[in-house]
Amino acid sequence: MTPAAGWVEVDTRAIAHNLDVVRAHLADGVELCAVLKADAYGHGVDLVAPVVIGAGVRTIGVTSNGEARMLRGAGFDGRILRLRPALAEEITDGASHAIEEWVGGEAHAKVVQDASATRGRRIPVHVALNSTGLSRDGIPLDTAAGRRAIEAIGRMPGLDVVGVCAHFPCEDVDDVERGARDFAAEAGLAVEALGVGDVGRHCATTFAALSVPDAQFDMVRIGAALYGDSALLGGRLRPAMRVVSRIAALNGYPAGATAGYGRAHRLATDARLGVVPLGYADGYRRGLGRRAEVLVRGRRAPVVDRLAMNTLLVDVSAIEDARIGDEVVVYGAQGSDAITSTEIERVTGEIAADLYTAWGRLLPRRSVVGVSIG
Ligand SMILES: *Cc1c(COP(=O)(O)O)cnc(C)c1O
Repeated sequence: MTPAAGWVEVDTRAIAHNLDVVRAHLADGVELCAVLKADAYGHGVDLVAPVVIGAGVRTIGVTSNGEARMLRGAGFDGRILRLRPALAEEITDGASHAIEEWVGGEAHAKVVQDASATRGRRIPVHVALNSTGLSRDGIPLDTAAGRRAIEAIGRMPGLDVVGVCAHFPCEDVDDVERGARDFAAEAGLAVEALGVGDVGRHCATTFAALSVPDAQFDMVRIGAALYGDSALLGGRLRPAMRVVSRIAALNGYPAGATAGYGRAHRLATDARLGVVPLGYADGYRRGLGRRAEVLVRGRRAPVVDRLAMNTLLVDVSAIEDARIGDEVVVYGAQGSDAITSTEIERVTGEIAADLYTAWGRLLPRRSVVGVSIG
């Protein structure tokens, strides 16, 4: 393997554990759709798919055709559901992987219908409703145009409607409860207007499924919880990712010196600064500079500079035994401490997934199963 300056470690045992924990919170008969979009949230479809398939998951959510191709290549013969409206060429190709498409409105339904004609076969679809008020791709059944759209979709011969769905705009219990009630009513109307039998109804993500049982319906679409990126359930979900590097260089500078670009940091006392070979081009966003902390020898070290393209600077003055080659954890656990999603979100004002999905795609990934990550 080519040596790397930083890497992502994936603990697939945590994913198996999280799957068990989530399943214990589902009502009887509720199907679990494991969401592996965005290359399994940066954890790698190659690493995550065997775990969820091995655990008996029969429905997997994706966004790209490449993800679907990998799943079929791994022998997965369950259902693959696409979690967004797809482009015409994606749908045409997607039929080869038996992808169930997410229909995002009447005009988009026509795109699916055309793809069906091109392929000479019906395409299974889930019709999105705007019951939750996301107003992104769901059909608004509270308008006459929306009701006409549903009927028109019901008449499209190339669409095999296998589900009706919705997606929540907010992680807020009251908002989800209201949306779930409205979805229950509208899903009934939609099924009738579509003229289909008893198709699957689903709207819940991790937050909704775990905090509002009435939102589970026939299926839940679980991403965040699978990867341990949820503070729900009192910390029983285990983060599956660590982002790791090492100290590449270490130098002492006197009190009064300024460190890094823009002279943004002035040393109050003599200090030892460690160079970590990760920067914003590696997905370690500039917004983390001067705000985040990393772990070295199980202790915290502040990121003191504004970051460079491929380096960041940490103050390890308080960690006397720190030396070149020491492991640096920028996300995840080391010793008894951890840089958590909650912390990343507080520091950056972004959701953690915005960062770690990029880390997972920009940095090499290693499975740590069978390897101690103490
Ligand atoms: C990503 C996604 C999910 C999974 O959401 P989590 O909060 O990560 O569980 C579910 N449904 C849709 C439509 C999505 O895009």
